[in-house]
Amino acid sequence: MFINCFTVDVEDWFHVCGVSGAPQVPSSQWRVYDNTLRLLDLFDELDIHGTFFMLGSVASARPALASEIAARGHEVASHGYSHKLVYELTPDQFRQELVRTGDLIASQTGVAPRGFRAPQWSLGGRTPWAFEILAAEGYLYDSSCTPLPFVGDSKGSLSPYQLATAAGNLWEIPPLVTPGRFVNLPSGGGWGLRFLPMKTILKGVEYAHSAGNPAVIFLHPRDVDPDGPRLALPLLKSFAAYGTRSDATPVLRTLARTGKCIPLGEMVDSWRFVS
Ligand SMILES: [Zn+2]
Repeated sequence: MFINCFTVDVEDWFHVCGVSGAPQVPSSQWRVYDNTLRLLDLFDELDIHGTFFMLGSVASARPALASEIAARGHEVASHGYSHKLVYELTPDQFRQELVRTGDLIASQTGVAPRGFRAPQWSLGGRTPWAFEILAAEGYLYDSSCTPLPFVGDSKGSLSPYQLATAAGNLWEIPPLVTPGRFVNLPSGGGWGLRFLPMKTILKGVEYAHSAGNPAVIFLHPRDVDPDGPRLALPLLKSFAAYGTRSDATPVLRTLARTGKCIPLGEMVDSWRFVS
């Protein structure tokens, strides 16, 4: 059976990495709650059970959101607290963000998060201590390392693997890419999902499925809000953050038909109990 894992980084339209100074956006202009509900309705319709990587600052400001996500049959995992890049945090700051967000999610849903995703793939070779901290804090898996040039490790694994740490093993689950002749293409989410031809995206899905791997799609609530506000950013950064002004919904409808859609945590459990 082919498996897809739809994942959502639950953050707002102004949570863009590398922007100096956190934008002060009044609460009345936040759209993360409504956009996440829109995604939840779409997931219901398409029979998708997914993983929502909750930003702690969003969980704090919108306390009903994580419990709504969990009540609708999805896994709630952690996206850190502040949306700062992991390699710009000290190990202590990283642990504090992890614990603060984990406690919030546990109190709001009744279940502690078992998975983590860093903002903008900012966890990896530069931050080996972060894997140790995740395992020590009881996390089962991480999905922060992408086999893409510039933002990740272009020679990184396309398949899930286990990392040995002093605190135990941690599963590392890369997002979907489409292997290209010279470089992997970001077909699993972000600008790539909205910009690349559908056949290029489906080629990546087929590659993952034929290797026995899940196709790991990553989304943001703003991906289904093409008319929403945008930060004024330099052209390339704006494209990377927001892509073209299109709605990801039609692509998601096509992708949902390519396999059974289950949360990442359920996928990892199936590997643990088989091996
Ligand atoms: Zn993010």
